[in-house]
Amino acid sequence: MSGTKFYDLIVIGGGAMGLATAYHASKSQNVSNILVLEQYAFYNELSSSGGSSRQFRLQYEEDYMAKLVLAAIPYWDELQAHTDITLRTKVGSLWFGAADVQSSEGQINAARNVLDRLNLPYQNLCAAEIENEFHFTNLPDSYGGFFQPDGGSLNTPAILRTLYQQAAASKRVILSPQQKVIELIAGEHEIVVRTTSDTFTAKKLVIAAGPFTNEILKLLGIELNIIIWQMVSCYFKKKHAGVDFPSWFVFEEPKEYYDPGLYYGFEEMSWSNPGFIRVAPAFALHTFRDPADRTDRPDAMDVWRTAQWVQNHMPELEAEARFKSWCMAALPAHNAKKMFLDFAPHAIPSHRNIVIFSAGWAFKFVPLIGKICADLAIAGKTSVDISKFGIEEFYERPCDLD
Ligand SMILES: Cc1cc2nc3c(=O)[nH]c(=O)nc-3n(C[C@H](O)[C@H](O)[C@H](O)COP(=O)(O)OP(=O)(O)OC[C@H]3O[C@@H](n4cnc5c(N)ncnc54)[C@H](O)[C@@H]3O)c2cc1C
Repeated sequence: MSGTKFYDLIVIGGGAMGLATAYHASKSQNVSNILVLEQYAFYNELSSSGGSSRQFRLQYEEDYMAKLVLAAIPYWDELQAHTDITLRTKVGSLWFGAADVQSSEGQINAARNVLDRLNLPYQNLCAAEIENEFHFTNLPDSYGGFFQPDGGSLNTPAILRTLYQQAAASKRVILSPQQKVIELIAGEHEIVVRTTSDTFTAKKLVIAAGPFTNEILKLLGIELNIIIWQMVSCYFKKKHAGVDFPSWFVFEEPKEYYDPGLYYGFEEMSWSNPGFIRVAPAFALHTFRDPADRTDRPDAMDVWRTAQWVQNHMPELEAEARFKSWCMAALPAHNAKKMFLDFAPHAIPSHRNIVIFSAGWAFKFVPLIGKICADLAIAGKTSVDISKFGIEEFYERPCDLD
């Protein structure tokens, strides 16, 4: 690729959201060419969409989030039709622990109320039932929770591959790795995008740069209040082949310095370390603003705390993790904001030609967010209510951070 080239739509970021945007945009008759620029290789482990799995759950403590998950389901079904590999398992989602603990993931009681209001099915469970049915042990008698049957796990690598293959199958999409965007000039009617090796011009731009969002937004003179967690995952060998788990999340009272008492896990996944169970802390000791602060190993304390939890409560697993992985999660610094999904702020010329998605626990929404980003960029509107994810009042200039 060399010389200036003109595209109807350029997507910055070839992670899950960028690929989903390209996939949906490729189905529109109103764009003739789409370029996806990825600074690394596609399927890289250096951003937010790495690793083997993500949780899919309906329960949220906000009605609008649960409704958004419901809205995503038809898009998951549509994506599933393109492959024989299961993209979303339906093993159910178990939430248990101290039902009134407030956490970054929500609260058991509040989520139960939302399930009631939306008339979604679930089964209430006491501590003894959770131990008997799901192989946990040593749970305090006061613990309770529920099992929601529509939850499960997302097969991250297969989802990325399916989105990539579907986008690549369209003659209108160019997927370009090793192209780091280093300059943006937003004019009234077009946007110039300069990478380390080329220069392009776009009518419309979607920025889906994950933990690198602020590196891109600084090129436009703005910054979002995003914090990055370097999250650890541990894989524990099962002792007995016949035993399995649902997708689960435990909420405990914070115990001591930096142990918020939040852990989650998965069923045995045929596509990732069969014979092992992934258990992870839903917190990170290492948090930062600049993705360059990522380290090249998992945090030893996060791994140790996870092993402690497994040793205390999961007797069907070996005591020590045999494999570990780690990955950067970008999150809105204010927990009340669940993610950013909006046009660029008014201060930027041609702001409605630029769409920004970033941050949050958003993998469960991937094909829906791809559709929304494509619609916003191409048609200038979406039928989905995204008013809670606006950035206009939230963006802050760099000097306002910290
Ligand atoms: C450990 C972990 C567990 C999670 N668990 C869940 C879960 O259970 N359920 C859930 O719903 N969500 C979960 N999430 C969140 C979910 O994974 C993210 O919301 C999702 O992966 C974000 O995808 P993305 O495409 O926006 O970002 P990314 O995957 O980070 O993609 C952004 C891409 O942009 C590229 N890029 C950045 N800057 C540039 C540049 N200058 N030029 C070109 N390319 C650039 C990057 O290299 C990257 O490939 C989890 C996240 C982590 C890390």
